[in-house]
Amino acid sequence: MKKAAWWVLAGAQLLIVVGCWFRFHAHHPLGNLLTGDAVGRLLAWGRLAGLLAVLAILFQLMLIGRVRWVERSYGMDRLTRLHHVVGFALLLLLLLHPVLLTLGHSRQAEVGYWAQAVDFIKTWKGLLSAVAGLSLVAAASVFSVLVLLRRVRYERWYATHLVLYFAFGLTFLHQVVSGSDFTDHPAFRYYWFALYAFVLVSLLGYRFVRPLRAFARHRFVVTRVVPEAGDVTSVYIGGKELEAFRVEAGQFMIVRFLAKGFRWEAHPFSMSCFPDGRQLRLSVKRLGDFTRRIPELKPGTPVLIDGPHGIFTSRVCASGKVLLIAGGIGITPIRSLAEEMAGAGRDVVLIYGNRNSETLVFRSELEELAARAGGRLRLVNVMSDDPAWPGEKGRVDRERIARLVPDLSGRDVYLCGPPLMMKGVRAALAGLGVPATRIHHERFAL
Ligand SMILES: Cc1cc2nc3c(=O)[nH]c(=O)nc-3n(C[C@H](O)[C@H](O)[C@H](O)COP(=O)(O)OP(=O)(O)OC[C@H]3O[C@@H](n4cnc5c(N)ncnc54)[C@H](O)[C@@H]3O)c2cc1C
Repeated sequence: MKKAAWWVLAGAQLLIVVGCWFRFHAHHPLGNLLTGDAVGRLLAWGRLAGLLAVLAILFQLMLIGRVRWVERSYGMDRLTRLHHVVGFALLLLLLLHPVLLTLGHSRQAEVGYWAQAVDFIKTWKGLLSAVAGLSLVAAASVFSVLVLLRRVRYERWYATHLVLYFAFGLTFLHQVVSGSDFTDHPAFRYYWFALYAFVLVSLLGYRFVRPLRAFARHRFVVTRVVPEAGDVTSVYIGGKELEAFRVEAGQFMIVRFLAKGFRWEAHPFSMSCFPDGRQLRLSVKRLGDFTRRIPELKPGTPVLIDGPHGIFTSRVCASGKVLLIAGGIGITPIRSLAEEMAGAGRDVVLIYGNRNSETLVFRSELEELAARAGGRLRLVNVMSDDPAWPGEKGRVDRERIARLVPDLSGRDVYLCGPPLMMKGVRAALAGLGVPATRIHHERFAL
């Protein structure tokens, strides 16, 4: 229902904008679609590209704005992937808009393309800042490609993305003072302002106000920093009235530790134990420059929390029985789900893949959980590179899943682990006939 409402809302804006554009351009003196010649059509299509580009920008902001009702429908990783795809379409529209309009006006005035472009910049109000904005967008897009190819560090790319807000701001003036769709049609102009206001309020509310309000109320603070197996450190977070901070097992939070050397970066981490209303726990594997410093955190460090986020929770589970599959540090959300689901009386099988017994995080905790659950939680550790391991050895593959979980067809499957493992396990599950709707997964990458 939420998904449908979200698409109806977004689709309605597309229909309104395209419908208005068509209506305005059926009788437009400069850019007439129906009776116009090539120049008229170039101008009309150029304007449509501009309108759609702005609509795409606002859509993009809603996708990554951590807007709760949007995120709850799809989960942040799917929204982020959609954001990447729309980003490229947006770039194309942003480039088409000035190219088509310059071409149309240059033909109409019978001057060269570049002479027309210079004339635009010199004489049209807001055009210079729009060109600057467009150049910044193009530069940030190149950076995004480099980050996807892993040539640029995440933090640099993120900083560049912040520049985009400024870049889009630069293009705003020329929309409302030069765009004939706005100057000639006050109702459309108000609609446009309302769209901007809606997106801005959502963005500010969910990205900034909500975390600050949560901090003001709960005063999150690091209470303990505990080393675990395999380069993992658990950070316990306490605070005031934590029972009122609603977080579900399997969800993640984007945290910013307010201490020297940490405060400029916010990173996502999953809840690694069942949120009992008394404390939160994140368990962090040392992977890069930020996570390497986690053991240095001191109790008493205030924590800004954005979230909880994510739909990797028991809410999406349709069966009474579940299979949880974790690989490496992917155990964090799985660990909290195992506790919740076994506690709620579900029949749970947990397959935990690791390289060797030294990287097995939460070993005793999981064994205790299984013992407490009295048969409702069956734990199977699988080691890929540990000849001395007395139990399952090898990879979590199709044969092993079929053998260990003969009643797979009656279970929902939750999966979190390294990308390659997830790919292999999803293929194995599909091969075993598990429908995609019953496979829930969390990717540790946004
Ligand atoms: C939904 C989700 C839940 C996660 N849960 C856990 C968890 O419970 N335990 C755990 O150890 N790790 C978890 N991670 C992974 C963790 O966020 C990254 O390992 C960490 O941010 C890497 O930071 P770094 O600077 O140390 O490493 P780097 O080497 O700088 O980054 C390694 C990779 O991590 C990603 N990354 C880096 N910084 C960020 C950031 N600020 N925001 C988003 N992604 C970033 C990028 O893909 C990057 O290529 C989770 C990630 C996501 C998306």
